Amino acid sequence: MSDAPSTPSPAAQPLDESRRSSPSEGGNAPTPFPAAGNISDAEREELRRNGILLTSLEELYNWGRANSIWPLQFGLACCAIEMIAAATARFDIARFGAEIFRPSPRQADLMIVSGTVTKKMAPNVVRLWNQMPEPKYCIAMGACAISGGPFKQGYNVLKGIDRFIPVDIYIPGCPPRPEALLNGLIELQKKIQTEKVAGPQAAKHLRSDVQSEFPVPTYGEHDIIPTKNPDVWSPPSLPRKA
Ligand code: SF4
Repeated sequence: MSDAPSTPSPAAQPLDESRRSSPSEGGNAPTPFPAAGNISDAEREELRRNGILLTSLEELYNWGRANSIWPLQFGLACCAIEMIAAATARFDIARFGAEIFRPSPRQADLMIVSGTVTKKMAPNVVRLWNQMPEPKYCIAMGACAISGGPFKQGYNVLKGIDRFIPVDIYIPGCPPRPEALLNGLIELQKKIQTEKVAGPQAAKHLRSDVQSEFPVPTYGEHDIIPTKNPDVWSPPSLPRKA
């Protein structure tokens, strides 16, 4: 055992002085604990170093969901090879709690649309989405899933899966590398961690007025019918040069 005086640890730093009680509030009364909603990140970190974990049910709920995302196991074209690579040891998507690719939509909460969505396949993708329980999320991986990619002008290719189902994260590239998919997954986790569990801003899966299932297009004589769902697809209005 050493008798040398120990160096004060960062944990010994006091809380923000402005948050201490004033004499009129009780003089030497113990420092009141700040309300959880008013606590700063620095104070929260200081408490954590002291072994005190401060959280809320909302944070705990979102933390659990964000770190246990189960993707649906399916791929459509070359981008799927990169998605598969993300699950291998080199890139290790398991580090983010998303390694359990489920073969059934009933057990999945993330659809990674990885590859070209042909018009023949589009109804089946929408049907799979409808079969996934809430809360569920969608990543459009690669140029094809976002817009049709190099096949955009093809008569048989859908110009973006967001014409039929809502997309949370877009990952550009042809194909995006596995690191890009991991980055998209991290962005999705950030989105999940900011979701509210109550109130008018509550997450969509907690609200009865938000649609969860969408009409499945059918095969027409020359195209799928309808060609897009206007309730889902809202393209940006881009000003055209004269
Ligand atoms: S974006 Fe490129 S790599 Fe991905 S499915 Fe389309 S053509 Fe293949």
